[in-house]
Amino acid sequence: MTGVVLSVVVPMFNEEAVVPALVARLRPVLDGLAVAYEVVAVDDGSGDRTAALLFEQGRTWPELRLLRLRRNSGHQAALTAGLHRARGDWVVSIDADLQDPPEAIAPMLAAARERGLDVVYGVRSDRSSDSLFKRSTAGAYYRLMRRLIGGDVPAQAGDFRLLSREVVEVLKVLPERTPVYRLLVPSLGFASGSVSYVREKRAAGETKYPLRKMAGLAWDSAADFSAAPLRLATWLGALAFLACLGLMVFGLVVWANGTVIPGWTSLFLAVLLLAAVQLICLGLLGEYVARIYRTVQNRPAFHIGFDSLAPDPGPVDIPRQRPAAAAR
Ligand code: UDP
Ligand code: MG
Repeated sequence: MTGVVLSVVVPMFNEEAVVPALVARLRPVLDGLAVAYEVVAVDDGSGDRTAALLFEQGRTWPELRLLRLRRNSGHQAALTAGLHRARGDWVVSIDADLQDPPEAIAPMLAAARERGLDVVYGVRSDRSSDSLFKRSTAGAYYRLMRRLIGGDVPAQAGDFRLLSREVVEVLKVLPERTPVYRLLVPSLGFASGSVSYVREKRAAGETKYPLRKMAGLAWDSAADFSAAPLRLATWLGALAFLACLGLMVFGLVVWANGTVIPGWTSLFLAVLLLAAVQLICLGLLGEYVARIYRTVQNRPAFHIGFDSLAPDPGPVDIPRQRPAAAAR
């Protein structure tokens, strides 16, 4: 037993601009909770001064603990690293950019303790500070996920949530490399509640979720939880078969009437279309095969290069690769 009641996991990728604001706002909130806590700041292989700034802050804030991943491994992998190293009876994950207000942590913890909940989601009641693009893509994402996975995906619940130790232990032993937590956690079926909050504007810096990473997350979510995309091949095949039946009748009638038309264009188009459809289906199949392959390889999703709690953590500025494009 470490005596830590609450761990706050904060994944950070190139967030040097928000570190001072984050510390200034998070610390009074956590100090005010009157419980033993730790902040597990996970530096996701940043190429800027995020780790150095956090390390500096740690000198005057002993509860601030720094984990540094050797390379940029993506938001969900950083969350995984934080969950694995967090020691608290309760673990809250929160974005670094203060879009999720730290003040909501107190009601989350209170709800969990008073109502005996294992999971408390932070649900965005108002996203008007997000761009129209972000809001509409997020809306489409949650609709699609509900359609694919079923009704129990809480809408507008991102990665701001509180988990009990029991849930964290269940998550830790799952063999998945980088699970999509916002879908995985509800699928476990623990007693859950929610605390609603107003989504704020990013305190500083730029979004670390460009369109490419958003699309990656959406695809991972769909493929991790549903085989429906594979069924697309069956449907396309059935459709092609029906079209073929119609064209066969047409062809025979035309032939019987002796009015066969030269068919270069139609043949050409049919061949191209079918080839394209087949390639798409093959690609879909390949995506699932790749997932099986990665699971079998069973390589770790992240490597922790520095943990300020380790007996001999070494220098914080370990030589790193170029800040590579994130996996997602
Ligand atoms: N993040 C991360 N690794 C990445 C991308 C993002 O750890 O590869 C962190 C980021 O620092 C932030 C959180 O994930 O704390 C959410 O990212 P962001 O706020 O940029 O996403 P948005 O709110 O724009 O969807
Ligand atoms: Mg954000």
